[in-house]
Amino acid sequence: MSAADEEIAPGALRDLLDQALAAPPLRLLFPPPLERRFERESSAVRWRYLRIVTLVVLCVYNAFLFDDLGLVPDIASWAIAMRLLAVTPAAFLALSLLGPDPAPAWREGTGAFATVLLSASIAMVFLLSHAPEREHYLYGINLVVVFANAALQLRFGYALAASSGSFASLCIAIGVTSGMPGAVRLHHLMTSLTLIVLTLIGNYRLEQQLRRAYLLTLREQLRGHDLSESNDLLRDLSNRDALTGLANRRLLDETLRQCWQRCAEAGQPLSVLMVDVDHFKAYNDRYGHLAGDACLQAIAAILRMNLREPADMLARYGGEEFVAVLPGQDISAALAIGERARAAVETAAMPHAAAPAQRGNKAGIVTISLGVASAPPYQAGGPAALLAAADSALYAAKQRGRNRASAGRDDSRSEGAC
Ligand code: GH3
Ligand code: MG
Ligand code: MG
Repeated sequence: MSAADEEIAPGALRDLLDQALAAPPLRLLFPPPLERRFERESSAVRWRYLRIVTLVVLCVYNAFLFDDLGLVPDIASWAIAMRLLAVTPAAFLALSLLGPDPAPAWREGTGAFATVLLSASIAMVFLLSHAPEREHYLYGINLVVVFANAALQLRFGYALAASSGSFASLCIAIGVTSGMPGAVRLHHLMTSLTLIVLTLIGNYRLEQQLRRAYLLTLREQLRGHDLSESNDLLRDLSNRDALTGLANRRLLDETLRQCWQRCAEAGQPLSVLMVDVDHFKAYNDRYGHLAGDACLQAIAAILRMNLREPADMLARYGGEEFVAVLPGQDISAALAIGERARAAVETAAMPHAAAPAQRGNKAGIVTISLGVASAPPYQAGGPAALLAAADSALYAAKQRGRNRASAGRDDSRSEGAC
């Protein structure tokens, strides 16, 4: 199964996490999907650690060849050859065969297997030697157990198996050998057993804390993720107009400021359209505020369809007024866009029985008027001056009879007629 297949949905992950945190502390395994995630996220660090510890321990292990010379001189050459020519190359071979990212069972299982083999080899050297000091050689098995349980920190189940195998090797060696006083046998067994129990307790506790730390870290990560999602949502809400879903004044100001700066630096034109619904007070009076709201939503949707988002940006400026920011569009292009939007609203033919007949005003339907202004020139007044110019142009469009787009220049070519 690939990592993507194993991705747990956030809700399910939260449930699993709660379940794992509430589970009795004696339990080491997580529910399977969480266990796989734990392994996936911790295996690289763990494998690097295991490889480093193995290399360090190999050095220490080979330094014990002096023990071979001192304790089992009769078979020292054989024992040294085993260290240098069998165990050491086998360890390197195992490390390379396991590859860069072994499965947990292979990784831990190989560690446990190597532990048992080492203990068995020590027991074998002890049995083959007839040297008087050979009995001390058996303490090596205890060191191997410390290596597995404390240094490698094998996962508890594997540490238990490795310890059992090592203890079995010791029992066999002590059981098979002859001439060892009973008290000495008992001493070896008791020492080894005590060491195994103590290191297993430490090993268990360590894994328990490691797993608990993982769960708590994961919970913090999920909380952080939730918090940042809530922040995104809040930021989005604080930038949106609730009625139309368009950008609100705050986002408009920010976007316009950025566009102004970018376009001024790039030497590109920047235009704004200021849109106002004609005779909207009368619309509300005639159809009611709820219908007025629906009308604003419909107009917002039409305006949106006539812009090229996300390059263009449409905002609700306030009341029944909208502003479109058109980076890269000069005054004639902006006027054409405004005219297209105006015509689209007109074509929608939303009934407005209360619209008074006026010059240029289509009787009986909702219409909009637009004021268009462009930079350059990028004056000192900045975006505010551009908006003010669009507002003046809008005023002119109203004066000229509404349902038209008017540019911030006073000549007939700058007007989209209806
Ligand atoms: P003009 O053609 O000159 O623009 O006339 P007008 O009636 O559209 O302009 P006026 O400024 O007199 O009225 C605007 C109206 O828009 C008044 C207000 O009740 C209405 N309005 C503003 N915001 C909302 C809104 O969110 N919902 C509704 N339903 N009406 C709104
Ligand atoms: Mg208005
Ligand atoms: Mg109006």
